[in-house]
Amino acid sequence: MSLLEIRDLSVVFDTDDGVVQAADCVSLDIREGEVLGLVGESGCGKSVTAMSTLRLIPSPPGRFVSGTVMFDGKDLLAMPISELREIRGREIGMIFQEPMTALSPLQRIGKQLVETQQTHGQIDRKEARRAGEEWLAKVGIPDPAECMFSYPFQLSGGMRQRVMIAMALMQDPKVIIADEPTTALDVTIQAQVFDLMLDMKKRDTSLLLITHDMGVIWEMCERVAVMYASEIVEVGSREDLFRNPLHPYTEALLASIPSLDCEKGELETIEGQVPSAIDYPVGCRFRERCKYAVERCEKEHPDLSVVDGREARCLLVEDRMKKKPAGD
Ligand code: SF4
Repeated sequence: MSLLEIRDLSVVFDTDDGVVQAADCVSLDIREGEVLGLVGESGCGKSVTAMSTLRLIPSPPGRFVSGTVMFDGKDLLAMPISELREIRGREIGMIFQEPMTALSPLQRIGKQLVETQQTHGQIDRKEARRAGEEWLAKVGIPDPAECMFSYPFQLSGGMRQRVMIAMALMQDPKVIIADEPTTALDVTIQAQVFDLMLDMKKRDTSLLLITHDMGVIWEMCERVAVMYASEIVEVGSREDLFRNPLHPYTEALLASIPSLDCEKGELETIEGQVPSAIDYPVGCRFRERCKYAVERCEKEHPDLSVVDGREARCLLVEDRMKKKPAGD
């Protein structure tokens, strides 16, 4: 069952150079208790999609053009902001790429952790401080008591990131939207944070995990959505997507994963550039970089087609579906 349903979400930014189409008719379902990965290269619309669900896009220059985000039978994009504030953090937690988006530079960490808990629940100060320290320890802060007395500027980037992750997880939300949550962390802490997130999943918390790292997707996610040039281009189970990618962009992303036994000693790259979001071409947006492109790809814009329960935005999807890997 879907817990969060994004339907036909379109967001633009008005800039001096023109109107930037940041998310174009994006539809996604986050099901109860699942980890859904959202993957794609920088600037493809992943973060805009994530931030739009909680109306965190600065306006201006951002503008919602269309779409709904349904949670618990209500449209988050249409409800009064006072009602949405009750949902932010408590029901839907967000972990940002940049921790200072969530932390106040003027308050000690302890005060922020206590206030976060007291905003949404009846908890006394002492208990909230104790819980705060416990969560700091869980995310790998070496001296939680000292950290409680620190201001964000006194902590390293990685420590701030961990504080923000603690702040999101401690509220036990139904959904967590995590946008590149571990980019600033070293691999040991990264693994610790992912373990914590998987623990939350055991308690039926759903997770939308945004990343450009296919290794993280493989480790963490059950289903994967791929974005390219502001659109969803493929959605499928992790296994389907890794074994038999339907969209040529997904195929190229997988081919560019570094491998220890890479015989050639060279990484595959995706040639060419993403088209400008101010002026997308008429046909397929991946056309210039696609090694399978045919003439009609220049004129026809592909819809997101459903074939055998899988979704892909490619005019040749049926042919590609037939090319199952050996052993299937
Ligand atoms: Fe490539 Fe054409 Fe499919 Fe686009 S529609 S991904 S250009 S084959």
